[in-house]
Amino acid sequence: MRLDDQSESQNVEDRRGGGVVAGSVGIGTLLVALAAGYFFGIDPAVILGLVSNSSHNTSSAARPAAKPPANDEMASFVAKVLGSTEATWQTVFREAGRRYQEPKLVLFAGATPTACGTGKSAMGPFYCPADQKVYIDLAFYRDLRERFHAPGEFAQAYVIAHEVGHHVQHLLGISDKVHAAQQKSGNRAAANALSVRLELQADCFAGVWGHRADSMQKILEPGETEQALTAASAIGDDRLQRQTQGQIVPESFTHGTSEQRVRWFKRGMDSGDVRQCDTFSAASL
Ligand SMILES: [Zn+2]
Repeated sequence: MRLDDQSESQNVEDRRGGGVVAGSVGIGTLLVALAAGYFFGIDPAVILGLVSNSSHNTSSAARPAAKPPANDEMASFVAKVLGSTEATWQTVFREAGRRYQEPKLVLFAGATPTACGTGKSAMGPFYCPADQKVYIDLAFYRDLRERFHAPGEFAQAYVIAHEVGHHVQHLLGISDKVHAAQQKSGNRAAANALSVRLELQADCFAGVWGHRADSMQKILEPGETEQALTAASAIGDDRLQRQTQGQIVPESFTHGTSEQRVRWFKRGMDSGDVRQCDTFSAASL
């Protein structure tokens, strides 16, 4: 990506390097986090399964927080991508006669307190609506590259843009409505189906950012769009379930299939238009 002209966001909170973080995470706080956060494209249970199945990954909650390296290119990259999402969503909100409230982005290592309970890196990046912050342990990018086979800067940027998409849904009152409807349904399959629509919309919003940032600042190198599509495809519920459980249970999907995630990201990316992201009235996803 070409981000040389992009200024870094001032909304990054760096909590790395604060000594040893968190020991064990209580199941109560984990449940709170699961109920209130929106995770990057991956059902937390699947992610936790991937982690426990993996031989080289011991409990990430107990490891000491890594000190940020002196030349912290990755943190700078994240701050620039966040800055780019701010510019995009400020414009989109202004066009609609509204004001965009920027979210904060927290860099952490291992585990960190959030208004949604303790956040753990094993859950993948997530957004907590109660404190309007995106949380990411940069170690996830290694997983994205090695475990999900989705390398590249635009794949990494998509992760942030997806979580920022959840922030936009929060500001627009969409996620509150979805949660109310989920509770009212009292039915797991119906609640999951709503979750899929919410997640696919966050993918579409990520695409809207990609489109607009590229038209404004020419951030993409030739062929880079493909990286985000690969990432979206790699974290489809069907693909992940086949990897972790060997079978697919569509009623348990919470984020959508690989094909659906690619389709909705592309819709946003091709159009740059949030009106193309109405996953809730779409007859087919
Ligand atoms: Zn999500």
